[in-house]
Amino acid sequence: LEAAIATVGGSVSGSIGGSVGELGEFGLIKALASRMPAGPGTSVGIGDDSAVVAAPSGSVVAAVDMVIEGRHFLRSLSSGRDVGIKAAARSLADIAAMGAVPTALLAAVALPPALPAEWALDLASGLALEAERAGAGIVGGDTASADAVTVTVTALGDLGGHEPVLRSGASPGDIVAVCGPLGHSAAGYALLTGSRGPEAPRGPEALIAAHLRPAPSYAAGPEAARLGATAMIDVSDGLLADLGHVAAASGVAIDLSLASLAPSPANPLSSLTDHGFCPRPQVLDWILTGGEDHALVAAFPADATAGLPERWHVIGVVAAGTGVTVDGRPHEGAAAGWEHFR
Ligand SMILES: [Mg+2]
Repeated sequence: LEAAIATVGGSVSGSIGGSVGELGEFGLIKALASRMPAGPGTSVGIGDDSAVVAAPSGSVVAAVDMVIEGRHFLRSLSSGRDVGIKAAARSLADIAAMGAVPTALLAAVALPPALPAEWALDLASGLALEAERAGAGIVGGDTASADAVTVTVTALGDLGGHEPVLRSGASPGDIVAVCGPLGHSAAGYALLTGSRGPEAPRGPEALIAAHLRPAPSYAAGPEAARLGATAMIDVSDGLLADLGHVAAASGVAIDLSLASLAPSPANPLSSLTDHGFCPRPQVLDWILTGGEDHALVAAFPADATAGLPERWHVIGVVAAGTGVTVDGRPHEGAAAGWEHFR
C-alpha cells in the first residue's frame, strides 16, 4: 500500500498549504485533477465537458454513493485519504456485486472553505488509490463549498460479456458463499470509538483499518459471474440485512450455518474473544449485522461448490420459503443491520 501511495503521490507537484478557500475553485480542481488515474478504457478524460469511456460489452453498469461528514465519518477519526478510499470503495463494490469490472469513477466533492487544502488533496489521493486498486480511472468530478465534507462517487463498470448478477436469481438448492471479511468494520468502529467501555484496547489495528479503509475484493465479482453465481450483493448494511434483500428479491429462504461463520483463529476477531475483551455473542452479532465491510456474498448452483476458489467461503443454503435464518432460527441479535434514518 505504501508503494502505491508513493506512486500516486509521485504524480503530484508537491504539497499545498493553506485552506481550500485560499486555493480557490480552479486551483483546487487543478490540484485534485493532477492526482487522478486516467484508467485503461478512457479515451477522453478530465478536462472536457464530459468524459468518454469504453463500454466493451455494449452496456454500462452504474452506481452512485454519498459519504457525508458527521454521518458516515468524523474528521477526528478518519484522514482525508481514509475518506477517499471509503467513498470510492462503496461505489466500486456495488459494481463488483453485479459481476462487472469497474472502469471509471466520477467524484463530486463539497468542502468547507476553511478545510486545509492538504486534507482535500489527501482525499483525492484516497480516491485515486482505490480507483487504481480496482483498475478504474477517475474521469470527472465537481467541487462546491458546503458546511460539511460531502463526497459523492459515481462508479461505472463493464460486464465483459456476462449477464449482470442480480439479487433476484437465487433458487432453492443453491449454496451461499462469501468473499471478504464480515464484522471487521463494526468491530473496528467499536474499538476506535471505545463504545465497548473504557477498557477497550486500541487494537487489533487490522479491525480499525477495516473500518477506516474497507478493501473489497473487486475481482471476486466478475469471478463469481464466471463461476455461475445466480445472485449477488455486497455486504454494506450487514450480512442478514443484505441477504434479506436477496431472499426477498429471489422469493426464497436463506439459512446460514453458525459454525461456518465463526471466526477462524487467524481472524483478527478471534483475538477479541481470546483476550476476553468482548463476549462471543457480540462478535457473532458483528459478523451477522455489522455493515460496511463490502464483502461479496453470492448464491451459486450446488454443483459449482467444488470449483469455488479458496477465497469463497460457503456459509449457507438457499431453500423454499422466505427470510433469512441462522441454524434454522431467526437471529435474536441487537439489530438486523444498519438502517438509515432510524
Ligand atoms: Mg450494494
